[in-house]
Amino acid sequence: MPSISINLKEGTLAKNTQQDLIVGIDLGTTNSLVAYMDENTGQAIAIKDEEGSNKLVPSIIHFLANGAVEVGNNAKGQLVNNPQNTIYSVKRLMGKSFTDIATHSQYFSYKIIDDDTESLVKIRVGDKFHTPIELSAEILKSLKQRAEKALDRSISKAVITVPAYFNDSQRQATRDAGKLAGLEVLRIVNEPTAASLAYGLGTNQSQAQTIAVYDLGGGTFDISILQIEEGIFEVLATNGNTFLGGDDFDRAIVDYWLEQANLTAKDLQANKALGQNFRLAAEAAKMALGTQGIFETTINKEPFSLSKEQFNALAKPLVEQTLKNCQQALKDANLNKTDINEIVLVGGSTRMPLVQEMVAAFFEKPVHTKLNPDEVVALGAAIQADILAGNNKDMLLLDITPLSLGIETMGGLMDVIIPRNSKVPTKAGREYTTQVDGQVNMRIAVYQGERDLIADNRKLGEFELKGIPAMPAGFPKVEIAFIIDADGILRVRAKELRSGIEQSIEVRPSYGISETEMAKMLLASMQNAQTDMQARALQEALNEADQIINTTEKFITKNTEHLSTKEITETQKHIAHLKTTLASKDKDKIHAAIEQLNDFSRPFAERIMDVAIASAMKGKKI
Ligand code: AMP
Repeated sequence: MPSISINLKEGTLAKNTQQDLIVGIDLGTTNSLVAYMDENTGQAIAIKDEEGSNKLVPSIIHFLANGAVEVGNNAKGQLVNNPQNTIYSVKRLMGKSFTDIATHSQYFSYKIIDDDTESLVKIRVGDKFHTPIELSAEILKSLKQRAEKALDRSISKAVITVPAYFNDSQRQATRDAGKLAGLEVLRIVNEPTAASLAYGLGTNQSQAQTIAVYDLGGGTFDISILQIEEGIFEVLATNGNTFLGGDDFDRAIVDYWLEQANLTAKDLQANKALGQNFRLAAEAAKMALGTQGIFETTINKEPFSLSKEQFNALAKPLVEQTLKNCQQALKDANLNKTDINEIVLVGGSTRMPLVQEMVAAFFEKPVHTKLNPDEVVALGAAIQADILAGNNKDMLLLDITPLSLGIETMGGLMDVIIPRNSKVPTKAGREYTTQVDGQVNMRIAVYQGERDLIADNRKLGEFELKGIPAMPAGFPKVEIAFIIDADGILRVRAKELRSGIEQSIEVRPSYGISETEMAKMLLASMQNAQTDMQARALQEALNEADQIINTTEKFITKNTEHLSTKEITETQKHIAHLKTTLASKDKDKIHAAIEQLNDFSRPFAERIMDVAIASAMKGKKI
């Protein structure tokens, strides 16, 4: 790893990595936290807000009328009254396209753009379009500021955690969010790995251990089975339910009370404030019954109560569902319950005694509960950060790639395939497709660097995959694989999966570049993060517009006889309007015009769904 660090304020290079404090960040669906390692006590500590009371930052972003942004508790206060301008659960959208989330789109009360493509989702607030990356960056900025205020120093480096099941594109989105927030993301760490580190598991390198990390939060459940050997964590299996969490226990209590009061869920929909009162009382009951036998309250002047036994009867089926996921994860990892050495609990909902008891009974072993389940992931991230800073000599550091490696895609954009700081040896790949009907050759240009436009990165080489069978655009499936061996040599292989033709090159990314040059490239990427992101967003909007104009024009030509004259002329008007916005170089205007065209053409496109053209719209173009 290059031992050169950068001073973001002054834009200078400094050779003293040791003094840098790297924070650990748990970027959560409901709440986020930032933690650091206290050098005096050697303890990881989660940082509180300015009032010194709260460590959790609700992962909620509110846009004020003047365009300013609020994050955290203030934003949370706007959820009920200002739902269109208040964004929650943005983590669920990271690295996703609309088609990925279409079945759950009713879960979000803000506007997610259905552009009917596989490009990444955007969220509309007023007349601005935001990506989940930009929104997550707002949360990260607020955590960075909190840490800078509390510790009275500037913070520019972080370790950020993600769920073990996050794919490449979700991890890359998280890195990009960090960069946009002015943070150099030294590593993306799996949440269960961080939680295990917080309990000191895996620090004893000689002993191989198998760990189950049971994470029940507010809205999601994850079980991960990890193996640690010689300081290296491997995820053996993950399972879970992205729509089961503490909220469901609250809902079960509300339903129980409604039944007693002869009310229905419809009554609550009609009276939002009453619904909110029921939900808050239910959550209070759930928490209180952790330590007391009965809970009593009044809602709307009516008395309601719940005993511990009644609550446990309501909660048991929900916990049983999570145990089914545990069973499946064990099966996928080819393990028995008794193979698990340690069980770590994560997430606020694991405070429920019933959860602790049922999980311990399932694994036939006591569970770890010593640490605050809301904090363990952030604390573990801070411990990992400390290891990366070189302060924990007992933990081993693996060879890593100092700069990201990727290829050029449509419009001169850099598509990262192996992110910087990946462990070596490593292997990663992604599928691409053609831009033009009948395209038989594909040029693959390999780049190194952190900038969004390849023009700003360093070219390592290029080659051509020749002899792709002629097919409509979007049909060929070209898998591009990057393989780095233990000596740091990169082999890039392109293979068309339908025909099997392949071609490859070998390069040595470290050849002809010094550590100082690498550090300078990194510095430039941090300084230009904002403009780079804007340039990328504009280029992506232009690409998307191009693609949609193309497919819509093709669609009209092919289906003229099924369309009315009005449909054709109106569509052409929308296309002409979209074309005029392209020159404006304003991504929001372009997206708005794309949305208008899509909204107009969707009804008749659905009517005459043409399978070939629909699938031609899918897939990323090189
Ligand atoms: P998290 O997403 O990990 O912050 O977890 C939040 C969830 O934990 C919410 O559903 C809370 O109601 C729940 N929670 C927090 N404290 C308790 C508690 N003492 N007992 C039961 N559930 C709790």
